[in-house]
Amino acid sequence: MDLWYTEKHSDNVGITMKTTRTLFSGKSEYQQLDIVETLEFGRMMLLDGLVMVTERDEFIYHEMIVHPALFTHPNPKKVLVIGGGDGGTIREIMKHPEVELAVLCEIDGLVIEKSIEFLPSMAADIDGNNPRVKLHVDDGLAYIREQQNEFDIILVDSTDPIGPAVGLFEKDFYTLVFTALKDDGIMIAQSESPFYHAVIQKIMYRNLRAVFPIVEMYQAFIPTYPSGFWSFAFASKTCHPCNDFDHDRSAKRNFHTRYYNQDLHLGAFMLPTFARDNIAE
Ligand code: SAM
Repeated sequence: MDLWYTEKHSDNVGITMKTTRTLFSGKSEYQQLDIVETLEFGRMMLLDGLVMVTERDEFIYHEMIVHPALFTHPNPKKVLVIGGGDGGTIREIMKHPEVELAVLCEIDGLVIEKSIEFLPSMAADIDGNNPRVKLHVDDGLAYIREQQNEFDIILVDSTDPIGPAVGLFEKDFYTLVFTALKDDGIMIAQSESPFYHAVIQKIMYRNLRAVFPIVEMYQAFIPTYPSGFWSFAFASKTCHPCNDFDHDRSAKRNFHTRYYNQDLHLGAFMLPTFARDNIAE
C-alpha cells in the first residue's frame, strides 16, 4: 500500500508526497513533531502537519536565510537564531569564520533532540560539541527581552505566525529585536509566500517599517513550501542589502553553496510586481 503525506496550502490545493516510513512521531508541549522518510525528498520534518524541512531542498532555505545578511554586514561576529531547531541555519552560519558565537534560541527541545537523532546533515553543529554555538531552549520572545546591543545579526527562523510563533511577527517583537541589535545590526525573518500570504506580508512589513529604517523583501524558490515562491524580510539599522553588499567577499568565499551566489544575492531582491504590491507602503 502506498503511503502519501499531503500538506494543504489552501482549502483546495496542497502538496502530496509518497512516504516510506515514519521515523518519529510525538507531541511536545508546543506541537506535533513527525519525521518521515519520503521517496523523493529524503527525510522530512513536519510540525503540526506542516513541512518544515526536507533533506533534498533545505539547502535553499538555509543558505538564503543566512548568507545575504552575513555578506552585507561589515563584520558579523555574534549572531542569534530564533527558532531554527533543525540546525540548518546554524550550519550555514558556521561557514563564516569571522562569526565568533552563534546563539540558537529554540522554544521546543524535542525539535533539537530529534533533529540531532534523525537529521544529522542539518543538526551537526547543535549537538552541544561546537564551542562557537550556544543553545537556549526558550521562547524567543522571552529571551530577546533580556538582550541590549548584543548581536550583529538576528535571524528569525520560525514557524508560520500560528501557535508559539505568533508573537514573532508583531511590532513589539521587532522593537525588542532592534534593541538587541548593535548599531549596524541586521535582522532577517522568513516572511512566508508572496503568492498565498499577501495579508500576512502586508501586516508583517508594516510592523517592520514601523521599527527599522531599511526594510526589503527577497525571494527564493523552495519547492516544498506553499507555491514554491518563498520570501525573507531584510530589516536593518544602517546596511542596505544591495548597496552595502560586499560582492568581493561573497565571490571569494571559501565555502561552496548550491543555491546562493554573489549575483543571485542582488537578483533575489528583484521582485515580481504582485510581491512588491503585497508590501507597498
Ligand atoms: N524553515 C521553517 C519555516 O520556514 O517554516 C522553520 C523551521 S524551524 C524548525 C521553526 C522552529 O521555530 C520550530 O522548531 C519551532 O519550535 C520554533 N519556534 C516557534 N515559535 C518560537 C518561539 N516563540 N521561540 C523560539 N522558537 C520558536
